[in-house]
Amino acid sequence: MLSRAVVAATSVVSVSAGNPKFWGLKKLSSCSLCSSSSWNLLCNRSWNTNKCRRMANYTTRALAQPLTDADQLIYSVETFIFDCDGVIWKGDKLIDGVSETLDMLRSKGKRLVFVTNNSTKSRKQYGKKFETLGLNVCEEEIFASSFAAAAYLKSIDFPKDKKVYVVGEDGILQELELAGFQYLGGPEDGGKKIELKPGFLMEHDKDVGAVVVGFDRYLNYYKIQYGTLCIRENPGCLFIATNRDAVTHLTDAQEWAGGGSMVGALCGSTQREPLVVGKPSTFMMDYLANKFGIMKSEICMVGDRLDTDILFGQNGGCKTLLVLSGVTSLSMLQSPNNTIQPDFYTNMISDFLLPKVATV
Ligand SMILES: [Mg+2]
Repeated sequence: MLSRAVVAATSVVSVSAGNPKFWGLKKLSSCSLCSSSSWNLLCNRSWNTNKCRRMANYTTRALAQPLTDADQLIYSVETFIFDCDGVIWKGDKLIDGVSETLDMLRSKGKRLVFVTNNSTKSRKQYGKKFETLGLNVCEEEIFASSFAAAAYLKSIDFPKDKKVYVVGEDGILQELELAGFQYLGGPEDGGKKIELKPGFLMEHDKDVGAVVVGFDRYLNYYKIQYGTLCIRENPGCLFIATNRDAVTHLTDAQEWAGGGSMVGALCGSTQREPLVVGKPSTFMMDYLANKFGIMKSEICMVGDRLDTDILFGQNGGCKTLLVLSGVTSLSMLQSPNNTIQPDFYTNMISDFLLPKVATV
């Protein structure tokens, strides 16, 4: 049935840059690819990143199969993790059959979790979006990368007397506030300009111990310089990215520069690589597995993007299902240039309502 195997994609693994002497760092989790702890990743990132890549490159993965027996997949899984845009909704429009599908899965006792790399909203704000769309989803089931940034800082006991500088939008600020961290930047710095005069020097807060970078429609030179100064000049300052998505879908007419473009600006100026807390890094998967006490082999990651959602599921050791209701077409999945193969693919999640019917 499987005529050939393909080489799995080189995985993106959470790596942190720079000075390992920051405060209170403790072992977080294991790297799914090399079984190294996050502490080791942080201290030996080059070695471990290379090792992870080598191992990933030697991993072969069968071609994705169409989902022909939804019942079997549902039976074998305890938890479904859903990406949101392109899976649950498109922009502000609910995808057909989602509500009935989620109800059916809940009636079978499945745990449902919703994970998004979009950091512009907090969990509370996403909760309102689900409600507006008529979906019964509580905040505890939602994990946005804005929350992941705050959860990461909590997990390393980031000192409460230190501050976080934010290049990003309101969602990150709200999650930092909820977690009890001091912060500055964000939308407030969106209108700030720099007047370059002879001898001009920008001051920055020496108590900033972490710079969090997420998607930011109001990125400007002020923010880039401020974040750069914190990372380069404050000893032990962390560089955290909510995600490195190349593109995002602000409108349905074209692809727009994604969070990776903001992160890239700071990478360029600091010559540092960030610690990524969103997909496809395993931080959120490890967090979810620990929080709910779930075996990763009993999780199915459902998403519409190969390089974030499917890689996220594979990096976490989960089953993976690609839906074609978002950015990935069947021809993209089956292109010889594509090296990321999910376990299964199907048109949309409402295909779960049609067990044992091949719909693709
Ligand atoms: Mg998506």
